[in-house]
Amino acid sequence: MEEIPIKSPEEETSFEIALSSRSGDLIAGMPPDIATCPDCRSELFDPSDRRHRYPFINCTNCGPRFSIIRALPYDRSRTSMASFTLCPPCRTEYENPADRRFDAQPNACPACGPVIKLLTSDGKSVTDTPFETAAELLRNGQILAVKGIGGYHLCCDATSNAAVALLRKRKNRPHKSLAVMFANMEELRHHAEVSAAETEELAGCAAPIVVVRLKPRQNSYDAHEAIPGAHLSQLVSPDTDDIGAFLPYSPVHHLLLSEISPLVMTSGNMAEEPIAKNEDDLKRILGKIADAALIHNREIVRRCDDSVLKIAEGKRLVLRRSRGIVPDHIPLAFEGPSVLACGAEMKNTICITRGDRAFISPHIGDIGDYRSYAFFREMISDFSDLLRVRPEIVAHDAHPDYPSTRYALGLVSARRVAVQHHHAHIASCMAEHGLAGPVIGVALDGTGYGPDGTVWGGEFLVADFKNWRRAAHFRQYPMPGGDLAVLNPIRMALSCLLSDLPPKNQPLIRELLPHLTQEEWNVLPRMIETGFRSPPTSSAGRLFDAAAAMLGIAEPITYEGQAAVRLQTLARRDETSTYPFNIQQDRQPATVSCSETIRAMVSDIRNGVDRRAIAGRFHNTIAEAIARTCSMIRERERLNDVALSGGVFQNEFLLKLSIKFLMRDGFSVYCHHLVPPNDGGISLGQAAVATAMSGKGFGNGRHAS
Ligand code: ZN
Ligand code: ZN
Ligand code: FE
Repeated sequence: MEEIPIKSPEEETSFEIALSSRSGDLIAGMPPDIATCPDCRSELFDPSDRRHRYPFINCTNCGPRFSIIRALPYDRSRTSMASFTLCPPCRTEYENPADRRFDAQPNACPACGPVIKLLTSDGKSVTDTPFETAAELLRNGQILAVKGIGGYHLCCDATSNAAVALLRKRKNRPHKSLAVMFANMEELRHHAEVSAAETEELAGCAAPIVVVRLKPRQNSYDAHEAIPGAHLSQLVSPDTDDIGAFLPYSPVHHLLLSEISPLVMTSGNMAEEPIAKNEDDLKRILGKIADAALIHNREIVRRCDDSVLKIAEGKRLVLRRSRGIVPDHIPLAFEGPSVLACGAEMKNTICITRGDRAFISPHIGDIGDYRSYAFFREMISDFSDLLRVRPEIVAHDAHPDYPSTRYALGLVSARRVAVQHHHAHIASCMAEHGLAGPVIGVALDGTGYGPDGTVWGGEFLVADFKNWRRAAHFRQYPMPGGDLAVLNPIRMALSCLLSDLPPKNQPLIRELLPHLTQEEWNVLPRMIETGFRSPPTSSAGRLFDAAAAMLGIAEPITYEGQAAVRLQTLARRDETSTYPFNIQQDRQPATVSCSETIRAMVSDIRNGVDRRAIAGRFHNTIAEAIARTCSMIRERERLNDVALSGGVFQNEFLLKLSIKFLMRDGFSVYCHHLVPPNDGGISLGQAAVATAMSGKGFGNGRHAS
């Protein structure tokens, strides 16, 4: 492996040490982007300050970092600030060890730094009052692109149904929740319940999007219930009473939100494309999605979407690990040659190791889209250059058709390690906790490639980093039309009902699934019966889809997991009963069958039981099935550690129930806090497995408390 030596500790300045102690990232000298600090914020609004209303104010404690670095070591000359020459007052601050801006690489002021302007789609630009004019456009229901830290946002007035509907239409995003930026915590508290842990995350220096619970939807017809001030548009998060909220984290946001707030702020891109970062990208947005753009002349070197997290059971549950967190590394309990792990397909990230440190890239997206695939390739060379490693081993998913797999297979000179998808999920959870295993790994997700040619996704593995075995899985159902079933949950409901109810019940199934067309009735039952274009799947995600479709809340679906989001929203309240289920142990691997669950749900539906109770019982049943299956495996294998991973565990209600039941049964339970349970965490698992397989001193697994 060719490695260029990094800076020795003596070469590091006090600034880097101070900063690194916060980011935990001394070795690579690559700090994450940091939200505007309170000192800069007060100077920003202080009329007597020389940076009053200057949109690029920053200091040693805050400002862009990772997104402006071209190369290491981190120094102004190797950032996109290199083209701006410090004016004498700024240079004095920069060189004075006693100053708050000592060695602050992006230091700038109105005299010497970047400038902002508002650009309209007809080519006019506004430089004297960009924020006031932008706010005026937003108040008129227009869509604004805003160049931020890691890319462009698209924003609109979050209180206007018409504006949110327009943004959704233009961005081709009919239902998936949109993040909302609030001017400050007080305003957010007006709309949502925010816990102490959530407050800490929102106000922290990473400034992620935090998923919080909206207060009961304000009813404008009821004067007593109405909360003073504007209401959020119901179109912001139509599937759930959660909202992705965040606070201004750059001076540009502070200045804009002081004019108008709250604003929908979503990544500036079409559907699955990477977030826009430069003029070329802007051309694809301006005039098509956005009516105007707030732009500036500080180049964004590296795309970095907003990070997204929830607080579950008092701890971080990361859904997207990106700006403000990247490039903090995950320490591995062992080291080996540098590994490049290529991730999966959806929510892709890559991971590169350097010694015993695993560096996960910012969120890349669905690399089935060719622009995102280009970003994936760009990220691999960019990240290797930054870390100054040339990976010797390339880890990839076992799925032969993922673009990431094809990329890895194209690297003929590298040593390649194929990692089964669900093993990678469990390995990522183990790596995060420093567990050596073996553990009982519960990997529940949408779809993953199984070595037996079926579609996996409801898996109970016995695994360490090098070895794994399928100990149990959810019962398989045919998936009529393969991927078509993912966006048509009603197909999975039909599949379950036809499999689990006696044949004479066809009229009843028709009654339960009124949305199925005659054409589908003509074709699907035979496909399900014969298996034609209907691969069997053990996916837990598809089981949630089926349950949601049976309750009539799965039509129409415009993004994967939407049905489960709705089901979770219905379920979240105190419901203690469960449905029956069954674990068949006569064959190995064992089968966890929810056929009885499906039948009991049908009878509840026919008896007019409240859908919220049914959704709650379904969640309880899956969590109970997880605990019971783990107990069955424990008896045979004498293992007590359970690792929970896979996209289904983004459902924090299911996660909470699963942890509760497993702990009740005496297990040590590990779930994700540092990387996402979804496929964004796959690259870390692949990297950990490949490092362990490389055979260089598999180290002491430690057990996290
Ligand atoms: Zn600052
Ligand atoms: Zn200056
Ligand atoms: Fe997965």
